Amino acid sequence: MKLKILHLYPKEMNLYGDRGNILAIKRRCEWRGIDAEVIPYEPGDQFPKTVDIIFGGGGQDSGQNKIAEDLRSISSNLKILIEQGVPALVVCGIYQLFGEYYITHDNQKLQGSGILKLHTISGRERQIGNIVLESKDFSQIVGYENHSGLTYLDDFEQPLGTVLKGFGNNGEDRSEGIIYKNCIGTYLHGPILPKNPKLTDFLIKTALKNRGLPSDLEKLDNDIEKRARDTASTRPR
Ligand code: GLN
Repeated sequence: MKLKILHLYPKEMNLYGDRGNILAIKRRCEWRGIDAEVIPYEPGDQFPKTVDIIFGGGGQDSGQNKIAEDLRSISSNLKILIEQGVPALVVCGIYQLFGEYYITHDNQKLQGSGILKLHTISGRERQIGNIVLESKDFSQIVGYENHSGLTYLDDFEQPLGTVLKGFGNNGEDRSEGIIYKNCIGTYLHGPILPKNPKLTDFLIKTALKNRGLPSDLEKLDNDIEKRARDTASTRPR
């Protein structure tokens, strides 16, 4: 058995260390003797038959422009997986494009995949800096944000957390990200997973459960991760 991690558009969508998220998932699997394989997906590729975890990172508006059409072409495959409860993490640029639409800085409307009930409009100022949230499911989450897009969730959608420090979805309502079924959308780079092992383990555990495999994960020593969290969360914005 091998867990298949789908990495969406690694060439264009990979900002501020987002690739480190893939490494974190892979390593935390390997440390527990769980085999995991990364399947990179680029525009025009065949959509893989089996997917256990979905990951997509951030990108500039120009990169988002390049992949948006292809993302729409695979949106029904992705939607089925998300509705089935496949765990997913989508960061910044892909987070925005998992929504309904994104109006860019130069007023271009990028149609999203409509998987998540949210939309994004470019703001006048970039939202940059270290960010800390309080999340119902994962307690405190730390990371780094850099986006101009302001994201608004549709009514009744659940944010990933409440902003304690930083901007989050839109700098107005203190919401950050979204959690829908087992799909997490967020603005947090850094990358997010190495500093937030609870999130990484959630993705792995859910993937194992979905396959009907034992999902009690062996405890790992998270001392380095904890130190990274402490440093990041006490840094000024
Ligand atoms: N281009 C988008 C924005 O500025 C996404 C940026 C990102 O992925 N960091 O909002």
